[in-house]
Amino acid sequence: MLDHLVSLLLTIAAVYAALLATYFFACLTITKLSRRRAGRKIQARTETRAQINRDRLQSVVSLAGIATMFGLGHWSYQNLGYGTHVQEPGLLDMVGSFILSLFLFDTWFYWMHRLIHTKLFYRKVHAWHHQTVSPEAWSNNSDLLIDNIFLQSYWLVAHFVIPIAPVVLFIHKLYDQISGVIGHSGHEVAGSVCWPPSPLISVTHHDQHHRFVHCNYATHFTFWDRLMGTLHPMHDREVKRNLLRSGACRSSLHRP
Ligand SMILES: [Zn+2]
Ligand SMILES: [Zn+2]
Repeated sequence: MLDHLVSLLLTIAAVYAALLATYFFACLTITKLSRRRAGRKIQARTETRAQINRDRLQSVVSLAGIATMFGLGHWSYQNLGYGTHVQEPGLLDMVGSFILSLFLFDTWFYWMHRLIHTKLFYRKVHAWHHQTVSPEAWSNNSDLLIDNIFLQSYWLVAHFVIPIAPVVLFIHKLYDQISGVIGHSGHEVAGSVCWPPSPLISVTHHDQHHRFVHCNYATHFTFWDRLMGTLHPMHDREVKRNLLRSGACRSSLHRP
């Protein structure tokens, strides 16, 4: 029993260390690059130093909650035999399950995000994250723990229901950690692959979510927002304008 508890805590601690390291590395790198690309800033407004510090501190707390959910899923998979165990997956299996997980997490995130934007949950669960109107890299994980239970419990459940090797799920989580930081950077750094109506998400997509609040709920793709009519009416026009302004696309090839 004690052995189990110790190995569970060690698993959670290892996941937490990896997520923290990824968060700080991504934030420091993106912030440094953003300073050199001031022309790509999406909003004229900037957050106060106090607000950025608040977001950084809360992110460190919040990542502990996410690590607990991921670590619990991983530990139960390895030690209790829960989940669909994939025996020695090949490269194709790994790529396929990674893509599957991208779509499933995007679906989970979209619907849970819409749920916590309803009157019933918004103020108590999600309003904290929206105190930041002009997102910056450090605000990516600035959420209450209850918010993480809605949006991030995917990382617990996925271990049990998706036929995916744990290492692939972990790579997806690290990808989500880095893409989330970039998505909150406040600077449009996407390339021409995000030119609307591309299903790939740009930085402008989530930046609009912080500005206009009740729109653009997805995290990896624009499918669900387009399908459900929750994409901001100015989304495509603003993404095109920001991509042209950033130099990622040329106006002769990509007409606004
Ligand atoms: Zn939101
Ligand atoms: Zn956000």
